[in-house]
Amino acid sequence: MYGLFRLIYSDKYLVDIGTHVFPTTKYQLLYQRLIKEGLFKRSDFIYPPPATNEEILLAHTKNYLEKLKKGTLSLDDLFRLELPYSKELIEASLICVKGTILACQHALEDGICVHIGGGFHHAFADHGEGFCIFNDIAVGIRNLQKNDEVEKIAIIDCDLHQGNGTADIFSNDKNVFTFSIHQENNYPAIKPPSDIDMGLSDGCRDKEYLGHLEENVTKIVADFKPELIVYVAGADPYEKDQLGGLLISMEGLKQRDKIVFGNAKKHNIPVAAVLAGGYAVNIEDTVQIHYNMIMEANAKKENRTSI
Ligand SMILES: [Zn+2]
Repeated sequence: MYGLFRLIYSDKYLVDIGTHVFPTTKYQLLYQRLIKEGLFKRSDFIYPPPATNEEILLAHTKNYLEKLKKGTLSLDDLFRLELPYSKELIEASLICVKGTILACQHALEDGICVHIGGGFHHAFADHGEGFCIFNDIAVGIRNLQKNDEVEKIAIIDCDLHQGNGTADIFSNDKNVFTFSIHQENNYPAIKPPSDIDMGLSDGCRDKEYLGHLEENVTKIVADFKPELIVYVAGADPYEKDQLGGLLISMEGLKQRDKIVFGNAKKHNIPVAAVLAGGYAVNIEDTVQIHYNMIMEANAKKENRTSI
């Protein structure tokens, strides 16, 4: 390994979904920047194959998987998904699930792993919603559980939107702690309860946001004692996001990454990070926010190995 940890990426994530607010180009832009700047080499990246049916079925129903593979989603299904169906989109989504499976495994091996993709937290076991086809986070965690790799996992979901699919899938699993910090008056309208939901008011700024985050992350790490953190590092709490109503600055989001990685490092907990949402007016800002997260992961890892 040339860099300090591995990353997961696929060129297939760049799917043509027509004129859409979801920027599928952000993955490639971020990957190319990381390579260009030389901190990571191509050999530091893992380029995943599609997840198998067996893997997907760890968190999804057979009926839903068949509908996706055969292209038999109903109009209602497509309406909830808010994405145009294509074979390429399903293939990219299957690869993305495998990416998060691998990110969880490599985080346990290396301390940190970042998936330049994933974070599709609105997908439920039996249907997709809000641009999310498969819940890669849930499949990744279920895969670790199946192999008895860890017992207790915490999901720190900092995407602008509440992690409804993930909360629902793990609602009866005492070994998976779900935490979501999000804008209360935003999608999804119905929010199945996470173990802790921190719903923020419209216009919330850095100080309040970071205060709530620090307090909760510190508590979760100390009380629940997770053996792995899955960090859902959505870029959409950003003040210039098109879908968001929070006012978190670029600097505030850097501080957010510091809180998550800092607490993990303090307690020696591995972190698997996924990108999730990000709809800034300028795509460069979305890429910059994700890039900053990777730089913070790198700084923490560097620090850790030097101790
Ligand atoms: Zn989001």
